[in-house]
Amino acid sequence: MADVTILYMLGWGRSGGTLLGQLLGGLPGFVYAGEIGNAWAWSERAQCSCGAAGPMCPFWSRVFQRALGGWPDLERVLAAHGRWAKLRHTSPLLLGHRTGETEAYGDMLARVYGAVAETAGAQIVVDSTRRPPEGLLLLRRPGFDVRFLHLVRDPRAVAYSWSKRPKERPEGGRLPLHSPTTSTLHWVAWNMASEVIRRCRRGALLRYEDLVLEPGAQLRRVLRKLGLTAPADLEERVSRVPPGTAFHVLVGNPVRAAREPRPIEPDEEWRVRQPPHERVLIALATWPLLLRYGYARRSAPPDA
Ligand SMILES: [Zn+2]
Repeated sequence: MADVTILYMLGWGRSGGTLLGQLLGGLPGFVYAGEIGNAWAWSERAQCSCGAAGPMCPFWSRVFQRALGGWPDLERVLAAHGRWAKLRHTSPLLLGHRTGETEAYGDMLARVYGAVAETAGAQIVVDSTRRPPEGLLLLRRPGFDVRFLHLVRDPRAVAYSWSKRPKERPEGGRLPLHSPTTSTLHWVAWNMASEVIRRCRRGALLRYEDLVLEPGAQLRRVLRKLGLTAPADLEERVSRVPPGTAFHVLVGNPVRAAREPRPIEPDEEWRVRQPPHERVLIALATWPLLLRYGYARRSAPPDA
């Protein structure tokens, strides 16, 4: 198998990962297949953005056949995922700690990423799972090159997104809710873990707010930073979000199933609807990172 580059996103949920994945996934040589490492993606009940129920999707059927000889045993995946996807494993894995169990789980993940690339005929797999330990499990595997892209969004906007009435999943049910407190604690912890990995592995930083403002310029910047080649017509290609049907995404924001291309618009609803006291408390709880990412005042992001 030819070398596969995994462009692994870092950060906390509701930060624009699906949007970023869909923009990058529309570039030649790239494939975006959602949150591949999210155990739910390996469930037969997941609904693909192409419109097919998981096992009926020709893309994912081929991927799992190639990687695992058939649709995966969800119990097994969930057990390994539950043990190794926890944030506390970030530092040991970054320091090179490995066990037979981590290697077996990492091998299984790598086989799926490799099969995604092979099935799509792509060299770069864009992943929006954003679980730091799982990204690290993919390191040091022959035939794979992992680049980390840290996506961050204002914690007040993220907390608002997690706490408002959740969108319906294409397969039924709704996305989970998190209180502003839970979202904020996770935002701090996940971004700190992401920050450490990005610095150690020379990754790139991207703010959601900059991405929606100037997608072409920002994607050109981060691809250069990650040592990846951007097409000459990048700005034109990312001027709109491709329809969800252009991808095979099992897990991601329900907007992944949109049937039509859509314009890129900043989601600023939180500025009007979030209670002011909530905004102040979140700012106080996150202030070191809020300053670091330039959210305390409107300023340029400090890229590493
Ligand atoms: Zn599909």
